[in-house]
Amino acid sequence: MKLISILFGIHVFSYLSTKGIASPLRSARTLEDDSLAFPKIFYTDVPVEDAQNEEIVMFVAELDMIASDFIDDILRLSYLIHDEEDYDHTLALNPFDDNMIVDVEETTKLHDYIATPKNRNQLEDTINGFPCYRNLAGVFQLMDDLVSLSLTIDNLVVEKYDIGDSYEKTINPNNGADIFALKITGEGLPDCYSTEKGITFVTCGVHAREYSPPELCSRWAEALVNGYGNDPDITSILDHTEVHLIMESNPDGRAIAEVNQAAFWRKNTRPGCSSSSSRGVDLNRNFPFKWGYPGGSSGSPCSSTYRGSNPASEPEVSAIINYAESVFPASQRQNDPGGADLDVPFPEDTTIGVYLDIHSYGNLIIWPFSYEERYCGNEVGFNAFARKLKSYNGYALAGPFQPAFLYPASGVTDEYFYKELGAAGFTYELGTSFYDDCSTFENAIFHQNIPGLMYFAKVSAKPYSLVKGPDVTVLDFPAVVDYLTDPDATISITVSDNELSAGPGNYQTSTQNIDDIQFSVDMHPYDVDLNNNGPTFIDLPVLSSSTTVTSSLTIPLSDLIPLLAGPLNGGHTIYAQGKDENGYTGPVTATSFVLQNVPSNIPDPIQCPVCVEDPDKAIIGLLTGTQARFATCGQLAAANQGVIDAVCALDLVEVATEYSPENKCPETCIDPNSTPNPDTITFGLAPGPQVIYATCELLSQQLDQLIGTACSLDMNEWFQYDASTVCCQTCSS
Ligand SMILES: [Zn+2]
Repeated sequence: MKLISILFGIHVFSYLSTKGIASPLRSARTLEDDSLAFPKIFYTDVPVEDAQNEEIVMFVAELDMIASDFIDDILRLSYLIHDEEDYDHTLALNPFDDNMIVDVEETTKLHDYIATPKNRNQLEDTINGFPCYRNLAGVFQLMDDLVSLSLTIDNLVVEKYDIGDSYEKTINPNNGADIFALKITGEGLPDCYSTEKGITFVTCGVHAREYSPPELCSRWAEALVNGYGNDPDITSILDHTEVHLIMESNPDGRAIAEVNQAAFWRKNTRPGCSSSSSRGVDLNRNFPFKWGYPGGSSGSPCSSTYRGSNPASEPEVSAIINYAESVFPASQRQNDPGGADLDVPFPEDTTIGVYLDIHSYGNLIIWPFSYEERYCGNEVGFNAFARKLKSYNGYALAGPFQPAFLYPASGVTDEYFYKELGAAGFTYELGTSFYDDCSTFENAIFHQNIPGLMYFAKVSAKPYSLVKGPDVTVLDFPAVVDYLTDPDATISITVSDNELSAGPGNYQTSTQNIDDIQFSVDMHPYDVDLNNNGPTFIDLPVLSSSTTVTSSLTIPLSDLIPLLAGPLNGGHTIYAQGKDENGYTGPVTATSFVLQNVPSNIPDPIQCPVCVEDPDKAIIGLLTGTQARFATCGQLAAANQGVIDAVCALDLVEVATEYSPENKCPETCIDPNSTPNPDTITFGLAPGPQVIYATCELLSQQLDQLIGTACSLDMNEWFQYDASTVCCQTCSS
C-alpha cells in the first residue's frame, strides 16, 4: 500500500491516528449518519485517474482539507466539516453521488481529543494545554522583550513596527489587535566598511489554528538575538541581512483558535457567512497575485478557502503587502508579473531577498507555482534551494511536479512575494497536526528547523545564485592564536556541492566539482571599503576533482596580521566560501578566533580614517600613508579660502598679457575666451561674475599647506573626544 500524505495548507491528523489510513473497506457510515456531533471528518474516494478532472479540482478547492492519501489506485480526500451549513454547502458541490462518508473512527478520536481536559496550570502567556506555545499576549510580549534586550547588545538592532490593524480593530479600535513586524539586523561591520544587505521576510500565524508556526517564529527570533555577538555565524548573518518577522499575521483568528480547539479556526473573522462559526476570509487566498484563479480558492464566504471580495481586501493582507513593498527594492520588480513576464526569471546575480510563510501541517516545503501546477522562471534555483532546506528538516519537496504536489491554491503568500517582489518565496508545512504536542514541537519541529532558517537568511543576499553554489561544511581554525608561541596558524575547510543538497537523486546544481576554497579575515566577502574594494582572499589548494573537497593551509602570522581590522589583540572573524566548476559561489560561513600577546610596537592596522565628533565642528579625516591624520572642517575651510584669495589676488591684466589668448583650453576652462597657461593645466574658480584661474602649481601648494596643517595636529588631542561617536558619514564625503 502506497501512502503519501500531502497538500496545500492541508494536512494529516497524526494525533488522531498514528497513522495508517485504514483500508478503503474499513467501517464507515454513510452521509445519512447523524449520530455524531460536528465537527466531523469526512472522506471522499476518487479514482486516481479522475483526480485532475476540473469538477473534482473545483470541489477540492472548497474543502477544509486535512489529508489526501493515495491508497493503491484511490485518492482519499479527508476533510473537516464544521457544522450543518458547511455540510450542506459541501454536499451541494460534491460532484459524486453518495460519496461523502463520515470517518467515524477519526471523528470519534477528534471528539475525544477535544474533550480531554488540558493542563489547567497553564502559564498566562501560553496556550492552555500547550506550555511550549506562547499565546498572542506571549508573542507580543516577546517582541517587546527582544527590543529591550537589543539595547544591551552592541551593534544589534531590533525594532518593532505597527504595520496595520486586524479586521476587528478596523471596525472597533477597542477590539482586535495591531499587526506587528519585528526587524532584526546587525550593524557590526568594522568602521568604514559597508555592505548591501539581503532581506529575509517571514510570516507566521496566517492560519489561526496552526499552533506551532508563531512559536517557531518566536524561537528563531530568540536564537538570532541571543546568537548575535556570541555565535560568529549568526553575527555574520545578521550583519548581512535584515530579518523581518510577522509573528502573528492573523491575530483575530488566533484569539479564537487559542481558546477553542474544536472550532479549527483558520481564517480571519470578517462576517459574510450565515453561519458565524464559518465566517472569515482565508488570508492565504487573499493575496493579489493570481487572486481568484479558478480552482485555487473559493468564492463562498463560508468556505475554509474563501478568497475574499477583492485582492488584498483584508486589512491583515494589505498591512503585510504595504510593509513588504517598503522593504523589498522596487528596482527588481517586473512590469507584468502575472502576464507577459509570468515565465521570465528574476536575474540570479542581482535579485535579493527570501520569503517564508510558515504553516502547519504536513512536513512539506512548497514553492511556486501552485495557482496551477506550473514551473516558474526560477524553478532550478527554487528546486536547488528546497533541497538545501530539506537537508536540515527532511520535509518533502512539494513544488510543482513533485510527488507531494497535488492541488492548486491561488492568491497565496509565497507566489505574491516571489512574482511581485522578486523574493525566493517558500511555504513550510510544519509537523504532523494543527495542534502538535509539545514533545513533537521541542524534539522535532524546533530542533529540525532552526538551522534551516539560518541557512535561509544566509542566502538572502543573492538567493537564486548562492543556493547553487557549494556549502562550507567544516571550518576549523584555532580558537586562540598566541603571537608569542604560534608563528603560524592552520586553517582547514571542507566544501561540498552535494552534502547539504537532499535527494531524491543528485540535483543538477549539486554535481559540480569544487573549483575554489577561500577565506577572508575581518572583512566579509560582501563588504566593501570606502574605495569600493572587497576583501583580500586567501586561496586554499584544491588538490582533487570532487564534489566534496577538504583542504588545509598553514599561514604565517606575518601574512595574517596585515589583513586584520581593529585592535590586533582581541577577537577576529574568518569568512569562508567555496566555488564550483560552474562558477557558482556558495554561502559564507564564519568562525572567530582571539589573537593575543601581539607586542605594542606592532601598530594596529588602520582600515579607514576614524573620525571623532568634535563638539564644535565636524571633522574630516585625511589618510596619509598608513597614518590617519585629522583636520577640522574649520581648518579646511580656512585653507580653501586661502586658495581663493590667492587666485583672486592675481593681476588679470598681467595674466592676459603673459599668456596667448589663441591657446584655448576648452576642457579645463569654463570661459572659452579665457587665457590658458601653456605650461600647466589651469583650474577655474568663479567668485561672483568673474572667471578667475589658478595654476595647478598654486593649488598643489595650497593643498600641501592644508595637509601640513592637518598633520601637525597633536594626535593626543583626539583622546578628548568620545571615541564611540564615530562619524563615518562625514569621513566618506
Ligand atoms: Zn495553513
